[in-house]
Amino acid sequence: MKALVIGTGAREHALVLALSADPEVDAVVCAPGNAGTAVVADTRDVDPLDGEAVAQLAVDLGADLVVVGPEAPLVAGVADAVRARGVACFGPSREAARLEGSKAFAKEVMAAAGVPTAMSRLCDTAEEVAEALDAFGAPYVVKDDGLAAGKGVVVTDDRDEALAHAAACGGRVVVEEFLDGPEVSLFAVTDGSYVLPLQPAQDSKRALDGDRGPNTGGMGAYSPLPWAPRGLVEEVLERVLQPTVDEMARRGTPFQGLLYAGLALTSRGVRVVEFNARFGDPETQVVLARLRSPLGQLLRAAAIGRLADQEPLRWRDEAAVTVVVAAEGYPAAPRTGDVVEGLGDVEPPAYVVHAGTGLVDGEVVSAGGRVLSVTATGPTLAAAREAAYAGVARVHLPGSHHRTDIAAAAAAAGAGSA
Ligand code: AMP
Repeated sequence: MKALVIGTGAREHALVLALSADPEVDAVVCAPGNAGTAVVADTRDVDPLDGEAVAQLAVDLGADLVVVGPEAPLVAGVADAVRARGVACFGPSREAARLEGSKAFAKEVMAAAGVPTAMSRLCDTAEEVAEALDAFGAPYVVKDDGLAAGKGVVVTDDRDEALAHAAACGGRVVVEEFLDGPEVSLFAVTDGSYVLPLQPAQDSKRALDGDRGPNTGGMGAYSPLPWAPRGLVEEVLERVLQPTVDEMARRGTPFQGLLYAGLALTSRGVRVVEFNARFGDPETQVVLARLRSPLGQLLRAAAIGRLADQEPLRWRDEAAVTVVVAAEGYPAAPRTGDVVEGLGDVEPPAYVVHAGTGLVDGEVVSAGGRVLSVTATGPTLAAAREAAYAGVARVHLPGSHHRTDIAAAAAAAGAGSA
C-alpha cells in the first residue's frame, strides 16, 4: 500500500510514523510535511487547501490511500476531490466535515440525534450575546461559530471579556452553559456506518501550568486515563458516536473518517463539548503510540467502507505522554525562525514529533506556534512522563515554553499503570 498524508503538523508526523510501521504499507509520502516528516517519508509540495492539486498528486503517485490530516482542507472539500478521482481517502466530505466547521451545525445534529451536550444559543448581535450570557450565568462560554484552530473559544468569569470576544469573532457566535468536570478526548474511526472507538486521551488546552492562561491548540496529552469511569468508551459509543454517525447517514451526508468527540464528564453525566472531523493534536501522538493494530489497514478499511470486517483493535500495555514545546509568544503572537537544537540528543523511549518546523540550510527552524512535541511510552504514566520530560530537557529553542504538569496528577495518583 502507498499512503499519502496531507498536512504539516505533529499529527501528520505521528500519522506518518504509525503508517510506516504497518507491514502492508510500503511507501509513505507527506505533503507538504515538516522537517520531521522529511526524515521518515518522501515529501511533495502541495497546497493542502487545493483539492484538485491534492487529487492530482494522489493520482500521480499511484496512492492507495490518502489521509487528510487537518480540518481546513476537509472543510474545503479536499477529500471529495480525491475520491472524485477514484482514490480511497480517509476523511469526511465537505458536508460531513461541517460537524467541525460549524459549531451551530454540530449542535443541530446533536439535537436531532439526542446526543448530550451543553445547552446553547446562537447569537448574531451583541444584544443577543448579552442576553444569552445572563441567561446561562458565569462562567461564560463564547465560541466562534467557524474554524479557529482551537482558539475561538473563551471561557471566563469576566462578562466584559466574554462580550469583547464575541465582538472580536465578528460574526455568529455560540454562547453556552459552562460544563464542569474533567475533559476526555475520544477518537473513533468510522466508515460512515460502523464505528470503531480508539482509546481515550486527555489533552491540556490551556497555555500555562495548572490550567491557567489562554486556550491553545493543545499543550500536551496522555493516555490511558486511570481515573476514567469503567465503561466510558462503551457509553460514549452508544450515546454519542453511533447516534451521530447514524444521523449523518440519515441526512445523506455520511461521515467517514475520524470522529473526535471532545467530552466533559460533568456531575450530571457525559456531555459533548465539541466534535472534530480529524485526529487531534496532541492526542494523536499518545493514542497512536499505544495502538498495536496496523494503522494503514485500519484507515483504508474505513475509507473503502469495510470497517465491519476489521479485527478488534489491539493496544500496547503501556502508557504514553506527550509534551508540546511552543514558540515564544504562543498562542497570541508566536515568534518563528529560531534554530532548534538538541533534537539528536533525545533518547528512547522518548522521541520528537515535529509540528511547526522547517529546514533552512540544513538546520531545523521553528515555523509555527507549536514547534514540536516530545512523546514517550512507559510501563506507567509516571515512567512515560519522566521519559518525555527528560526528552524535553534535551531540546533547545530560544524563548520556548512548555507545561511542566502534563499527566502529573494522573501519574501521582499512583494508578498510572496502563
Ligand atoms: P472547543 O473548541 O469547543 O473544543 O473548546 C475549546 C476548549 O474550551 C474545550 O476543550 C474546553 O476546555 C473549553 N470549553 C468549551 N466549551 C466549554 C463549556 N461549555 N464549558 C466549559 N469549557 C468549555
